[in-house]
Amino acid sequence: MTTEETTQVATEPLGDWRRDTNCGVPRLEHVGREFTAMGWVATRRDHGGIVFIDLRDRTGILQVVFDPDDSPDAHRRAHGLRSEWVIAVRGRIAARPAETVNPDLPTGQVELRVQELRVLGSSRALPFALDDDDQTNESVRLKHRYLDLRRPRLTHNLLSRHRATSAVRRYLDEQGFVDLETPILTRSTPEGARDYLVPSRVNPGSVYALPQSPQIFKQILMVAGFERYYQVCRCFRDEDLRADRQPEFTQIDLEMSFVGQEDVLRLTEGLLVAGASAIGAPPPETPFPRMTYHEATTRFGTDRPDTRFGLELVELSDLLRETKARILAEVVARGGIVSGIVADDGARLSRRELDELVAWVQTLGAGGLAWIRANEDGWQSPLAKFFDEGERERICERTGLRVGGVLFLVAGPRKHAQSVLGQLRLRLAQMLGKIPEGRWNYLWVTEFPLLEENAEAKRLVAVHHPFTAPFEEDLDKLESAPESVRALAYDVVLNGTELGGGSIRIHRPEVQARVFRALGIDPEQQREQFGFLLDALSFGAPPHGGLALGLDRLCMLWLGESSIRDVIAFPKTQRAADPMSDAPAPPAPGQLRDLGLRPI
Ligand code: ASP
Repeated sequence: MTTEETTQVATEPLGDWRRDTNCGVPRLEHVGREFTAMGWVATRRDHGGIVFIDLRDRTGILQVVFDPDDSPDAHRRAHGLRSEWVIAVRGRIAARPAETVNPDLPTGQVELRVQELRVLGSSRALPFALDDDDQTNESVRLKHRYLDLRRPRLTHNLLSRHRATSAVRRYLDEQGFVDLETPILTRSTPEGARDYLVPSRVNPGSVYALPQSPQIFKQILMVAGFERYYQVCRCFRDEDLRADRQPEFTQIDLEMSFVGQEDVLRLTEGLLVAGASAIGAPPPETPFPRMTYHEATTRFGTDRPDTRFGLELVELSDLLRETKARILAEVVARGGIVSGIVADDGARLSRRELDELVAWVQTLGAGGLAWIRANEDGWQSPLAKFFDEGERERICERTGLRVGGVLFLVAGPRKHAQSVLGQLRLRLAQMLGKIPEGRWNYLWVTEFPLLEENAEAKRLVAVHHPFTAPFEEDLDKLESAPESVRALAYDVVLNGTELGGGSIRIHRPEVQARVFRALGIDPEQQREQFGFLLDALSFGAPPHGGLALGLDRLCMLWLGESSIRDVIAFPKTQRAADPMSDAPAPPAPGQLRDLGLRPI
């Protein structure tokens, strides 16, 4: 239908009609009651002179029946109704005849027999079908996001997200937290991403940064004495987008005074129980298991282990120091490691699949992947000829390799080899179907290193952020062995996905200055970038700490979705664009000039 045709449809005002039921509500107990319902025409069917409409609002679907015996006028006009028109109907609830009962619909035993109809709004023909199976290209759907959001799955997701957020707010309110807002036009907050910049018109040549997080402000609120702060806030990070990233995303951000790590972890567990229960996911069992960063990276090759399955890493460096497999021995001699994973039933993988894995590992930048398949008649492996009997025995003993299994070996610098095996572990788990359904493994990872070497920048960077407190007992190594200093930082992980993290903060300005120095930020830069924080810390700062959780990701996992775009009302595409409002867009004439900028 064209726009012209649409405008010819006579729509009526709402007038004094008011809705007294939602579509998803009526049940058998309402039979005989008179109701006014309003919503969208989901489908229309004509059957033997009777018109049936599925009327939809955000609560569900109600079958609405136009029978000439009930109202000839409404029946006549019902023939003209089309998909997604907005109507109001008044009538009586009746039980459906047995053969038309729909057990899949909560309202499936009843229908509304219409006496009066008002057409409140018409609709053009739709660019795509609104059923959940529709495969329409995402950017078309995002262009008409208001239609996409009418799909029951997305409506359900956003209503569920609202329930989770409200429950989290209620929980934090009950725990004495204060909901305070922090600025959007601000200075850079170092969370490791690029800033979005906003030029200032009234201060030519100067820019604001959109917050990567409210980190510094929430700490300053602790100095100000608010003791417990939270905010469900938008954060902005200009990163290359991956499937689970958005340039703007929502965090549940909190900070507390006079606490240690244990308090933050316990509080967060309660928060996750409240949110999961409200959204309909199984409430996690508390306390969550804990694992140090060292254990996580050694056993699982990552700081966010998926503990739903085994395939753990086993280190073999000490056994292979003298091996004739020179490529392995040389790595160990150079201070690297040889580590492996055994897949008990790995022999199910074909030779082609094994070769593909080897090629895939090469794309991760590792030296290479070796495999050893334990067959009935001995080892099959490109390396088999190098291992003597004793070595074979010791390797089997250490790794548990048995007939039918495959041992995958990676050699290289420790961190790199572990990270490659961590990724291989996930891939193997998928290939071999080892990830159990219906498991919700929450986990705390603790004792992160405070600092790490950034290979590109060739300097130390903060693993969490520069305001994270070192372990008190490691403080004296800050200058002499900075990479061995542990941080009072923690991440919470669900099934291998990081939900969020935080830390106890540095509240003593002299310690903060030392950490800045270890990060190579000289006193002048410290003052210039963080002077306001250092000042604040020097006016009576309480010990404090906190954390932030990614709300979008949490809702995605809780709702069993695979993309955060399906739990965000107006997400951006992979190219950080919004096809509906067409943002980003070239500036209007004169805007750049007003800002003192020149077009490129
Ligand atoms: N500001 C941190 C982040 O956004 C969280 C925190 O340390 O509380 O990841």
